[in-house]
Amino acid sequence: MYDYVIIGSGIVGTTIARALSRYELKVLLLEKENDVANHQTVANSAIIHSGHDPEENTLKAKLCVLGNQMYETLEKELDIPLLYTGALVVAHSSEQDEQLKILYQRGIANGVKHIELISKESALTLEPQLSKDITSALSLPSTKVTFPWEVAFAAMENAMENGVELKLNSEVVAINYEQNNYHISLRNGNSIKSKGIINASGVFSDIIASMIETHVPYKIMPRKGEYFVLDRRVKGFINHVIYPLPTSAGKGVLLVPQVHGNILVGPTSEEILDRNDLSSSAQGLAKIVKDAKLLSPNIPFDRNIRTFAGIRASSTYKDFFIQESKEYKNFFHVAGIDSPGLTAAPAIAEYVVSLIKERHELIEKANYNPIRKRLHMFHHMDLETQKKLIKEDPRYGRIVCKCEQITEKDIIDAIHKPLGSDTIKGIKKRARAGAGLCQGGYCESTVLRIIAKETKQDVTKINYYDLNTPILLKETKVKP
Ligand SMILES: Cc1cc2nc3c(=O)[nH]c(=O)nc-3n(C[C@H](O)[C@H](O)[C@H](O)COP(=O)(O)OP(=O)(O)OC[C@H]3O[C@@H](n4cnc5c(N)ncnc54)[C@H](O)[C@@H]3O)c2cc1C
Repeated sequence: MYDYVIIGSGIVGTTIARALSRYELKVLLLEKENDVANHQTVANSAIIHSGHDPEENTLKAKLCVLGNQMYETLEKELDIPLLYTGALVVAHSSEQDEQLKILYQRGIANGVKHIELISKESALTLEPQLSKDITSALSLPSTKVTFPWEVAFAAMENAMENGVELKLNSEVVAINYEQNNYHISLRNGNSIKSKGIINASGVFSDIIASMIETHVPYKIMPRKGEYFVLDRRVKGFINHVIYPLPTSAGKGVLLVPQVHGNILVGPTSEEILDRNDLSSSAQGLAKIVKDAKLLSPNIPFDRNIRTFAGIRASSTYKDFFIQESKEYKNFFHVAGIDSPGLTAAPAIAEYVVSLIKERHELIEKANYNPIRKRLHMFHHMDLETQKKLIKEDPRYGRIVCKCEQITEKDIIDAIHKPLGSDTIKGIKKRARAGAGLCQGGYCESTVLRIIAKETKQDVTKINYYDLNTPILLKETKVKP
């Protein structure tokens, strides 16, 4: 019997798991996929927003500003990458200059620190590649950029270190409430008993809620966002996050420097019906090019290495819906977590803990350890250490992914680390093998063989990503 079962291992579920791991509780996280952070958390702009944009007095505004500050603690405790970029919201007309002033006032009301209206000249000095047509800008020095799924891995690893259990390939298909406990049925045939449930299942949260609630107080309205990823050789083209003025459809098409040097250009914002539709479209990509060129006319789109799409869990409630069920005690909805959910996640986690504390006393563990260290990649080490390690273990000297300089030993470490993986994309998420210019064209087959060898599986059993996605089906040439 668990005290709490968390459903969903995105940034919200994993940071809640970590927040609960501080207390004397038996906690389990269930994830339907074969890896952590496969949905919204792996496909977003990676911005730790300052909080200038959400409507005043909303949970979005409050938890975004708080979450932004909390990332600086997470950087130290969880060893996550954080790029202190700052951001500029740019205006293009005297009418937009006025709208920028309203946004400035909203930022002040939300508690955004160091927010400032600046002239066109100051903005162009900070970012010479901005369009010469801009008229003024809003400077947001507290905006940062992170590596979203690394944050989710870090939070989960740390939660597990402190006693939380994780079950992958565990899709919740039914929930029943009997004798004050929840009985959770999984697609794999297992069932689990818990005193409480935290529903952090992203775009699927209303489906989970409908398994138990007579009336679900929100409906998810999935909203797709498409992107271009520019190769990291464009590093320095812009150094701040660049926003246009927000509209009712969202923050608009942005330019976002990434922690590894790439630049993201996007996203679009399109209401869709299919929660799993991650396709890119000619129409969406054309819109990005058109809108992005208003921010900067010379964006090096010829350096594009891939496109992708993510789906926001926007809801009819408009704000984050973080409440205990009115019908079922100890069932918490953490729903409608679209942007700025990545930013707000650590604050959402503490907010959920505060709701739980209204119900029970929580006792802190004496041996809680908030510290987690990330994998030390070979290309980040100094030359002397590299030479020493190659002497000790020649696998450090074999570069498998030439684009990102990832060695065989880096890949082996990513397979065997506490939250390791045995899929091609899982290794890409952890070690960046295949994340560079050739997108795995050169290294994928070697990564596959390393996984097969390290996990003692046949090469035909190695999946690309999800279950049942093998790259090799059978041998076509049999040795004589
Ligand atoms: C295009 C786009 C751009 C964005 N940009 C930003 C940004 O720059 N900054 C920012 O702060 N926020 C941004 N966001 C928002 C942010 O990405 C999300 O708010 C955040 O990732 C939500 O995390 P989550 O854990 O709630 O959801 P998810 O990451 O979607 O996780 C939910 C998990 O629940 C699991 N699940 C679902 N159903 C079940 C089931 N039945 N059983 C078990 N598991 C289940 C899913 O498999 C999934 O892993 C953006 C979002 C998008 C889509």
